[in-house]
Amino acid sequence: MSDSFAFVPLLLDWFATSRRDLPWRRDYDPYAVWVSEIMAQQTQMDRVVPYFTRFMARFPTLAALAAAEEDAVLKAWEGLGYYSRARNLLAAARKIAAQHGGHLPADYEAIRALPGIGDYTAGAVASIAFRQDTVAVDANVMRVLARVCDIDAPVKEPAGKARVVALARELLPPGRARDYNQALMELGALLCRPKNPDCPGCPVAAVCQARHLDIVADRPVLSKTPDITPLLVATGVLVHAGKVFIQKRLPKGAWANMWEFPGGRIEDGETAQAAIVREFAEETAFTVDVAAKLAVIRHGYTTYRVTLHCHLLRLAGSYDPSILPAPELTAAQESLWVAPGELANYAFPAGHRKLIDQLAGSLWSL
Ligand code: SF4
Repeated sequence: MSDSFAFVPLLLDWFATSRRDLPWRRDYDPYAVWVSEIMAQQTQMDRVVPYFTRFMARFPTLAALAAAEEDAVLKAWEGLGYYSRARNLLAAARKIAAQHGGHLPADYEAIRALPGIGDYTAGAVASIAFRQDTVAVDANVMRVLARVCDIDAPVKEPAGKARVVALARELLPPGRARDYNQALMELGALLCRPKNPDCPGCPVAAVCQARHLDIVADRPVLSKTPDITPLLVATGVLVHAGKVFIQKRLPKGAWANMWEFPGGRIEDGETAQAAIVREFAEETAFTVDVAAKLAVIRHGYTTYRVTLHCHLLRLAGSYDPSILPAPELTAAQESLWVAPGELANYAFPAGHRKLIDQLAGSLWSL
């Protein structure tokens, strides 16, 4: 354990000279710290920074965010994924406006009680924004501590994680939690990476147990990796009278309140074209013809590997070519016929956004 305590001064000295110049580190404004922490969940920091900068320009204060429409917040979040984060951020801003006088609370328990905030984020915001002596244990911190202190239990399972959290608390230097937590995360992100850690360049190498024992590749101990599930889905871009049909998903479930082209899973023995015709009938009561294949989009989310077959559609039968018919929606809360150029104004899940980007102007001449 004495080596473990030698680790903290080495870590803090390194952070003092090597920290990245991230926008919220300039004045540690609590609102900015909170937004950055929500964005950094599940997302690499180099992707977070441009989104953060745009988001803060769009919603510069907590009051501006609290007053925003959900559609505008989702649009600002588009491309970052895990959209429940954006919805929870907005819900939390409104709760802070209503219950905390518009100021983010400084107390760990009050922060933890806000929508979308778990133990890690509450600890990070309390320590980084308000200098509270709380720990913030994310995947980077677990990896660093599991290596430096040779934790031999799977850190993603409750017993292993509890050991890491207890260790993080034990090592926390009173009054220095802001730097201590950020330094642990920064070391994990920059040097003590999951693969190819830079042990020769590491400021704590001299006290690192895993390095000393030559077991860096075995720490942290991993749980069984989840299986990846392939998912075959199909979607149709229905064009009529120069407009494209889109619908807004229901307020609950995956991608709640986001816009989409109708579609769904391709069932066993079904072609993509047949799936699209069936889905349109079920979700909109429109009868459609498949006019052309547009693209096959591949993307992954959580444990799914999605293959999305996309086709251009026309209304079948005797629809008036100049009238935009109304659907009978069963899987959406509202729908619109929009000009192709207006699609940029709506927030779509990643697969559909990739499709729109890939088609660019080509679709609209069809
Ligand atoms: Fe990580 Fe290597 Fe540094 Fe140990 S010496 S903390 S394993 S980068």
